[in-house]
Amino acid sequence: NELPAMNFIHNIIKEDLKNNKNDGRVHTRFPPEPNGYLHIGHAKSICLNFGLARTFGGLCNLRFDDTNPTKEEVEYVDSIKEDVKWLGFDWDDRLYYASDYFEKLYGYAVELIQAGKAYVCDLTPEQIREYRGTLKEPGQNSPYRNRTVEENLDLFQRMRAGEFPDGSRVLRAKIDMASPNLNMRDPVLYRIQRAHHHRTGDQWCIYPMYDFAHPISDALEGITHSVCTLEFEDHRPLYNWVLDNVSVPCHPQQIEFARLNLSHTVMSKRKLRALVENGVVSGWDDPRMPTISGLRRRGYTPEAIRDFCERIGVAKSNSVVDIAMLEHCIREDLNARAMRAMAVLRPLKVIIDNYPEGRVEMLEAENNPERPEMGSRQVPFSRELYIERDDFREDPPKKFFRLAPGREVRLKHAYIIKCEHVVKDEQTGEVLELHCTYDPGTRSGTGTETRKVKGTLHWVSAAHAVKAEVRLYNHLFTKENPDEDEDFRANLNPDSLEVLTSCLVEPSLAGARPGSRYQFLRQGYFCVDRDTVPGRPVFNRVVSLKDTWAK
Ligand code: ATP
Ligand code: MG
Ligand code: MG
Repeated sequence: NELPAMNFIHNIIKEDLKNNKNDGRVHTRFPPEPNGYLHIGHAKSICLNFGLARTFGGLCNLRFDDTNPTKEEVEYVDSIKEDVKWLGFDWDDRLYYASDYFEKLYGYAVELIQAGKAYVCDLTPEQIREYRGTLKEPGQNSPYRNRTVEENLDLFQRMRAGEFPDGSRVLRAKIDMASPNLNMRDPVLYRIQRAHHHRTGDQWCIYPMYDFAHPISDALEGITHSVCTLEFEDHRPLYNWVLDNVSVPCHPQQIEFARLNLSHTVMSKRKLRALVENGVVSGWDDPRMPTISGLRRRGYTPEAIRDFCERIGVAKSNSVVDIAMLEHCIREDLNARAMRAMAVLRPLKVIIDNYPEGRVEMLEAENNPERPEMGSRQVPFSRELYIERDDFREDPPKKFFRLAPGREVRLKHAYIIKCEHVVKDEQTGEVLELHCTYDPGTRSGTGTETRKVKGTLHWVSAAHAVKAEVRLYNHLFTKENPDEDEDFRANLNPDSLEVLTSCLVEPSLAGARPGSRYQFLRQGYFCVDRDTVPGRPVFNRVVSLKDTWAK
C-alpha cells in the first residue's frame, strides 16, 4: 500500500498485487495497428501502459496489431517505433507482431472447431448482417451452424489452402445468436482475403479478426492487464469467451478507459490519412496535425506531451479536452528552457538619425530571464534597424504604448528612441520608414537610465539581421468538434497556416539547427523546421505567448 493510486487502473492493479494475482506480475502492452502515424490520443495510451509498468515495476510490450493486411505498411511500423522512443519509452527486447502468431492462432481456431465451438459459414457478409438481428430482436442461426466437426475441419483447412474465393466463407464462433450483446452472436473469427502482408507476404490467404487475435496475442505474451479504450467494453465478453475456450497459458484482464478527444482536431487515423492523401496538409508530420510527428515538428517536447497526458488523467467516461490545455503544457515547458531571441516578422525600417553612421555596438541580452544560468549573448545595434510594422501607428488609439509620431519607446536591451519623422509612399500612403533619434543616456543595463517609457519593442539591426521564413499555425478546424457535421472536412480552417517570407531575425539565429526552440520576444515560441537551408532558417510557431486556457 506504499504504491501510488492516481487513477482507477492503479487501484485495480494495487488490489491485484495485494491478492497476489498473476503471481504479483504487472505486464501491459501498447498494441497499435500499423495503418497510420500515431497521434496524441495514442500518446495517452503509451504513457498509461508504459507508465503502469514503470509505476509497478512491471513490463510493457510494443506489439504491432498487424492482422489487417490491406491497410498496413512498413513505413507506419517504423514511424510508430520512432514516436514511442521519442516520447521517452522503451520496450527493450519486447517488440512483437500479432502476425508472428498466425500459425498459433490457426491452431487455436482448429481447437475451437474440434470442441464444436466454431464453424465455417457460407453466408454472404450481407446475409450474416441480416441474420445477426438487432438490439431489439434476437438473431437467427446460420443454416451452416450445425456442420459436423469433420466437415468444419476440412473446410477450414481448405480455406487456408486457398481453395475458395475471397469473401466466400468465414469461420465463426458458435456462441449465442440470441445474446443481448451483438458481439456474441456468432462473431466472425477468420476471413478469406488474398492480400499481401507486410511481414508474412503471400503465405496466408485467411486472416484472423481483431476479436480473436487480440486476446490470444495478449495471453501468449503473458499480459496481465490489457488496457484499451471504452469502445471495447462491449467486446469484453467475447475477449473472455475466446480465452476461456482455447488452451492459452493465461487469462489477461481487459480494462477500458476513456479515449482522448481534443477540441479543434480529429483523432482517427482514417480521417488523418484522408487529410494527408488529399493534400490538405503537407504530410503526416505537418505541424498542424495532432500526430506525434506533427507535434514534434511543430516544436512540442516529449516532456510537455507526457505532462499533458498526466494532467488529463485516466477516466471511465468520454469527454473532450480543450486543445488550449495542450498548448498550456508546451508553453510552460518552453518558458523554462527556451532561449530568448529577437525576430521581426513584418519588418518596418527605422533610421536613428543621431546615431553615428558605421558604428556597431554589441549589447548584452539575457538568454532566459527565468534562468540566469543560461547566460547571455551579444546583439548588434546600429543606425538602421527594423521593428515590427504593428508596433507603429500614425494615429495611435488610446492605450497604444508603442511607437507613433512624437512618441518614445524603449528598444529592448538598447536605448529609448523617439519617432521624429515618417516617410511614406506618395502614391499609396504606405509607411516606408521611420526617422528617429535615440537618447544616449538610456542604454539598458548601465544603471544610468533615469526616464521610464511605457512600451518596449523588439528589433533587429538591418545590416546584421538574417532573413528567415516563419510559419504561423492556427487550429486545423474552426469548430470545436469537427466531427459534429457529416463531413468533418467542411470544418477545416482556411487560415490554419500563414507563411511569412520576409522576416528578419537576430544574427545569433543564423546557424540555428532544426529542432531547436526559441522564445521570440513578444511573439511566442518557435522551432527551427527541417526545411531550413544554410543562411535561411525556417521557423514554426509552436504556440503564441498568451495563454487562453482557463485553469
Ligand atoms: P484510430 O481510430 O485513431 O485509428 P485505433 O484505436 O484504431 O485508433 P490503434 O492503432 O488500434 O488505433 O491504437 C493503439 C492503442 O491506442 C489502442 O490500445 C487504442 O485503444 C489506443 N488509442 C487509440 N486512440 C486513442 C485515443 N484517442 N485515446 C486514448 N487511447 C487511444
Ligand atoms: Mg485498433
Ligand atoms: Mg482505427
